Amino acid sequence: MAIATINPATGETEREFTADDAATVDHKIGEAQAAFEVLHDTTFAQRAAWMRAAAELVEQEAEATARILVREMGKPLAQARGEVLKCAKNMRFYADHAEGIMADEPLDDPTSVGASRAYASYQPLGVVLAVMPWNYPLWQVVRFAAPALMAGNTGVLKHASNVPQAALYLDTIFERGGFPVGSFRTLLIGAREVKAVIEDPRVQAVTLTGSEPAGRSVASIAGGQVKKSVMELGGSDPFIVLPSADLEAAATTAVKARVQNNGQSCIAAKRFLVHTDVYDAFATLFADKMAALVVGDPMDETTDVGPVATESGRTELAELVDDAVAKGAKVLVGGAPLDGPGWFYPPTVLSELTDDMRIVMEETFGPVASLYRIADRDEAIRIANQTTFGLSSAVWTNDPDEQEFFIRELAAGAVFVNGMTVSYPELPFGGIKDSGFGRELAAEGLREFTNVKTIWRA
Ligand code: NDP
Repeated sequence: MAIATINPATGETEREFTADDAATVDHKIGEAQAAFEVLHDTTFAQRAAWMRAAAELVEQEAEATARILVREMGKPLAQARGEVLKCAKNMRFYADHAEGIMADEPLDDPTSVGASRAYASYQPLGVVLAVMPWNYPLWQVVRFAAPALMAGNTGVLKHASNVPQAALYLDTIFERGGFPVGSFRTLLIGAREVKAVIEDPRVQAVTLTGSEPAGRSVASIAGGQVKKSVMELGGSDPFIVLPSADLEAAATTAVKARVQNNGQSCIAAKRFLVHTDVYDAFATLFADKMAALVVGDPMDETTDVGPVATESGRTELAELVDDAVAKGAKVLVGGAPLDGPGWFYPPTVLSELTDDMRIVMEETFGPVASLYRIADRDEAIRIANQTTFGLSSAVWTNDPDEQEFFIRELAAGAVFVNGMTVSYPELPFGGIKDSGFGRELAAEGLREFTNVKTIWRA
């Protein structure tokens, strides 16, 4: 795949970039290793000051950066601005909290292990490789980089080949805040070059956000090297609506949860499981709201849904819908790619799904929703948990007993009750099953790339 900015709204190649050769990659990893030696001896207060300065730059430059994201992957401009500002928030969160999260954890009674003092101490690992996707080109990277740098690690980034300008912005932002040169380096390389980077002895660990096949490959290479990895892979999150729910609020949130980021979010609600007593009413509300969305130029402030980020992504989405329709699915809204330049696919709602359709098990990465009629809460759990994914989930019910049932039974890394899944710096984020392993954000995210060193003193 060429490293290039190809505007999804027009299909035109706007800028092409030359990939780094092996010597350049070697040099950049060397810079990251040298920066680690420096960072290792800095205080939390120093790193926090640099991180806040970098956050300040991100905020000052938000408008220009947001426009880069729109041109490279097509999300609506307002959402791009939101993504940029969320990055600054995450940077400030870790500037404020990293020291507390990494504080020593002493044993209450050290004499129980024959010591005068015994404690766990969190220490940085070194250079960590981040393999990142295009869907949130800034956020996915900063979600990892802010805690990693605050912990005292350094990073090298292999970003998706279709977001090179975002990748190059990230190459300098931390340095411009004051971090030592090389603390965070972008490698302009293709997927095939990732193996050699993981195998480099200077690289201690790897984190990947992306598709399941990419995750399987990177995790197995890291496993072969006995290197720590964190995997944030796909999802096919259920959004369950039960009779006691506020249907109007549920339908409004359901639309947002499905079409945010042009439907290309791992934590987007993709399957809508609705109790038969309220199914018809919800289906009408939901379909009407999906049909009312404005599809168009993502630079236009009034646009709700822009194009799918890549031509191949739109083709895959269309194939999933066509397969379902050929096997008997009913199209309530949308259902076919839009004509004209760019890779637009309209908000789409399908119903009458059967288990032989690919869409039942596979992830739809675009604004396509699947509606299921469920008889009771047990059937909701059966369908919700039947995919191989387990990232997040949402359930809408005002019955406290039902809420507890779904919190317990949903096989996912998160459950949102009467709301939609959102990632927050304050809360851990990650999945189970084929959605991956490990956690990002909160204390858990920061500690993933640390050496939990046990200290025992006689
Ligand atoms: P990929 O998983 O292919 O890309 C994500 C990142 O991994 C990119 O940097 C990519 O590089 C790299 N990569 C891909 N394959 C390998 C590999 N074998 N070894 C090392 N690195 C690799 O996502 P796509 O863009 O192809 O999207 C395909 C599907 O992935 C989507 O339809 C969606 O289902 C899922 N996805 C999920 C995301 C999530 O947030 N969980 C995000 C993006 C996609 P390069 O760009 O050079 O190929």
